[in-house]
Amino acid sequence: MTAQIIDGKQIAADMRAELKAEVAKLKAQHIVPGLGVILVGEDPASQSYVTAKERACDDMGIYSDDNRLAVDISQQQLMSLVEKMNKDPKINGILVQLPLPKGLDESEVLLAIDPAKDVDGFHPVNVGKMVVGEKAFLPCTPHGIIQLLIRNGVTIEGADVVIVGRSNLVGKPLANMLIQKKPNANATVTVCHTRTKDLSSHTKRADILIAAAGRPNTITADMVKEEAVVIDVGINRIEDSTKKRGYRLVGDVDFEAVKEKASLITPVPGGVGPMTITMLLYNTVESAKRAAGIDVSK
Ligand code: NAP
Repeated sequence: MTAQIIDGKQIAADMRAELKAEVAKLKAQHIVPGLGVILVGEDPASQSYVTAKERACDDMGIYSDDNRLAVDISQQQLMSLVEKMNKDPKINGILVQLPLPKGLDESEVLLAIDPAKDVDGFHPVNVGKMVVGEKAFLPCTPHGIIQLLIRNGVTIEGADVVIVGRSNLVGKPLANMLIQKKPNANATVTVCHTRTKDLSSHTKRADILIAAAGRPNTITADMVKEEAVVIDVGINRIEDSTKKRGYRLVGDVDFEAVKEKASLITPVPGGVGPMTITMLLYNTVESAKRAAGIDVSK
């Protein structure tokens, strides 16, 4: 069979339209969600992520407080800025673009963010709440993946899910979210990594296979069960002299071969990628509602 392609761009656009309508409703009640962004240094990839986040905020009507700081800023100055944002009622979410330049203590900065404004969901308080199944800011990429599954009608409950990758950013939080005793979870999850014996014996059993290894061609067609749902999180640069910029982006999955076997598959680019910023905006709006005392428990 040839898989149906999961259109992450369209799903992200649909979610952003829903959020935009929600922001307009909040504005009518004089509530303006605000995102504080901190970018240190001039790493081109980080700059382009931050620019995309700022544009998305503008488009959505979310206030954004952008702070682009010189690479030689001191730890103390950075900590003072986080502290200022913690106290600023106009800011509901704080985003520190990672990685920070060498010499700055990343974990000290992340720990200093008020957990109530931790819209990336990286603070240990939010990670702990997520693990025990309490209401928390969910990390954006795993949350975006779950939205892609739900919005494509994939049954997660009872599914055998295999995740390749155990990072704190993707694999571990995603596994935790999928095993919760909750709707759109209740899956049986296996997490694989570089010490996994016989990777394909696991991937071949997956109803839902999620590749987050950061290596092209980690998943080939012979490793995939017929009609599996395949989510490719990987973003890898491959040299390509036919492209003006000299490279193209590919995922971790051999897309052309695997799409002939899977029932649903995400492309790279245009699959998981567009969902990440969308879920950051979602968390920012949710944070603004919580700060205003609006019930977000449902
Ligand atoms: P990471 O921190 O490098 O983690 C990669 C994980 O994959 C590790 O757990 C590693 O195992 C495992 N792994 C690597 N090669 C493997 C192999 N051949 N077999 C089995 N396991 C293998 O990466 P990450 O931050 O999770 O990101 C993963 C990929 O997703 C990257 O390409 C990244 O760019 C992309 N990403 C995309 C988005 C998005 O918005 N679309 C967001 C975040 C990340 P060990 O633990 O044993 O080393």
